[in-house]
Amino acid sequence: MQTLVLNASYEPLAVVSVRRAIVLVLTEKAVTEHADSDRVIRSATQEFPAPLVVRLLKFVRVPYRRRLPWSRNGVLDRDGRRCGYCGSRAESIDHVLPVSRGGAARSWFNTVAACLSCNQAKADRTPAEASMRLLVEPFEPKVQRALVLALGVRQTESLPDWLSDTLAGHTSARRAALAAS
Ligand SMILES: [Zn+2]
Repeated sequence: MQTLVLNASYEPLAVVSVRRAIVLVLTEKAVTEHADSDRVIRSATQEFPAPLVVRLLKFVRVPYRRRLPWSRNGVLDRDGRRCGYCGSRAESIDHVLPVSRGGAARSWFNTVAACLSCNQAKADRTPAEASMRLLVEPFEPKVQRALVLALGVRQTESLPDWLSDTLAGHTSARRAALAAS
C-alpha cells in the first residue's frame, strides 16, 4: 500500500510507502489530507487510519521538470486500455508510423493502445494506408498522472474533490484550450 505525497502547494510530488508517510506525519513534516478509515495502522503506542494522501508542511522546490519515461504499460494506462482505432479493449501497442518504416519505437507520440485485431489489420502500414482513423491524439502523460496511476487510484470518488479536480485539470484543461482555439 502506498501514499501520495503532495507538496505544500498541493501539487503531487511522489508516491511513498505508507510506513514512510506515517514517519513524515509523526515527525511533523507532513499532515494527513486523506486517510482510509477502513485500514488501521498500529504502532507500539498509537493507531491511526492509513494515510492515502499526505501534504508536506514546507514547500519543496522541484529543480527540474521531470519527464515520464516511455513504457508499454504507460501507453495502455494513458489510453485507458482502449483501442485507439475502434475503442474496444486494447491488449497491445501499435506504432502509428511502423518502426520498420522509420517510426520511433519508444515515443509517447508514435504509440497508441490497440486491440489485437486492429493491430493485425493495420500491420506495417500507416493509418492512412490502412484506411484506419486514429480516434485519439497520442500525448506525453504528465508525471503527476503517472503518480496517480502508480497509486492505483482509478475511481476519482475515492479522492477528495479538490484533489481529483487538480489531477484531472492537467489534461482536461489542455483539451478545453484546444477546443476553444
Ligand atoms: Zn481496435
